[in-house]
Amino acid sequence: MRALRQTKNADQEPHPVTRHGRVTPLPKTWGGETEASAEDLVGRSKSDSSSAKPRTRAAAAPPLRAASRAGFQEALLRWFAGAQRALPWREGYDPYAVWVSEMMLQQTQVDTVLPYFARWMARFPTIEAVAAAPEEDVLKLWEGLGYYARARNLHRAARQVVSLHEGRLPAEIAALRALPGIGPYTAGAIASIGHNLPEPAVDGNVGRVLSRLFARAASPREPRGLAALQALARALIPAGRARAFNQALMELGALVCRDRAPGCLLCPVRAHCRAHAQGAPERYPPRVARPARPRVETALVVAQRGGRLLLRRRPARGLWGGLWEFPWVELAAGEPPAGGLARLLATLPLGEAARPSTLGAAAVLGTVAHGLTHRELRFHAFALELRDGIPAPPADADADGAGAEARWVTRPGLAALPLGRPMHKVLALADRHVSRPPGLRAGAASD
Ligand code: SF4
Repeated sequence: MRALRQTKNADQEPHPVTRHGRVTPLPKTWGGETEASAEDLVGRSKSDSSSAKPRTRAAAAPPLRAASRAGFQEALLRWFAGAQRALPWREGYDPYAVWVSEMMLQQTQVDTVLPYFARWMARFPTIEAVAAAPEEDVLKLWEGLGYYARARNLHRAARQVVSLHEGRLPAEIAALRALPGIGPYTAGAIASIGHNLPEPAVDGNVGRVLSRLFARAASPREPRGLAALQALARALIPAGRARAFNQALMELGALVCRDRAPGCLLCPVRAHCRAHAQGAPERYPPRVARPARPRVETALVVAQRGGRLLLRRRPARGLWGGLWEFPWVELAAGEPPAGGLARLLATLPLGEAARPSTLGAAAVLGTVAHGLTHRELRFHAFALELRDGIPAPPADADADGAGAEARWVTRPGLAALPLGRPMHKVLALADRHVSRPPGLRAGAASD
């Protein structure tokens, strides 16, 4: 369907190099005069369109007016019929399968999604099966895909589909949009791909293709730019062919009209493309600079006691919501990791083990970095083995006085809990530490 449904892009705009390798300035009218409008696509009469005379090289490119729209549609659909990838959610176009695939493909590559999709459909073959599952099972199946709000929303939405729609995913945009986690793009994708209704579905790939076809100056990342592209996409859909047409646009963006290196020579709609006629398709869509991500330092502890590890569950909402983690705390500006560790330990449900006389020395495990959309986290991880003399807790019992949100977990029990990617990296560090002879282990923490 697409190589990457990517909505974030912090890349810098490259030099505008023409097909002949020369660097050219942007045309003065790049800011908007030469853009096609949705009206161009819905068939203005010749007398109407004559008022929009080309004023630049860009405008001299073949426009997608009514006369050529059918040719464009035919060329794209013919190409898609031969070039489309065989993907499991394209088998029968079950709206539920389309929905799951669309949720998984957000921010994630197709190749990564394929095994997750197969496991999901085997475990949850119906919407009812998702709705009946505990959230922890859903998160465990999603483990490693990231952006876990997608999984939680799928779960909540499945329960609403069962209670409000008798287990059948609705086709109407308004009903779809009312479900958790379904925005304009996903609703359009389900309606068009799952139900073959003439609704636009403009993701990153489609936005890029349309921006280039029409040499749009506005960024699809901005509301006005996106709204204009959605109008264009809607106007382009051929009657009765929404499913194939929308997927063809997505596939073209994934396989041919790539972000950095569009394959214009192989493009089936090259004759209709304004950006190609300009000679610098990479200029579109305009790139929006992103601010640098601040770095957040943290101290984390892998506390072990009687062969069990202390984990806590994150709040249901927000970052890694509902997943389990080793306890960690953000460091204050200039605070050393060992200082943060001391603060952290004072907050943990260690019970009798928290008395200084029962605490062993914390060993430095190492640092795990993890990039998020808006910041970068660095976990300075410590191992802490609580000394003998503390009664071992029962397997996978709640931590002392901590209720159900923290547990001492056996290693087999840990495998059943959903963890985020950085916690798996911390676990690998801890395993390497334990497997080393004591003399080769990292030193104890100090300020
Ligand atoms: S001609 Fe090039 S820029 Fe235009 S749609 Fe095709 S691949 Fe993209």
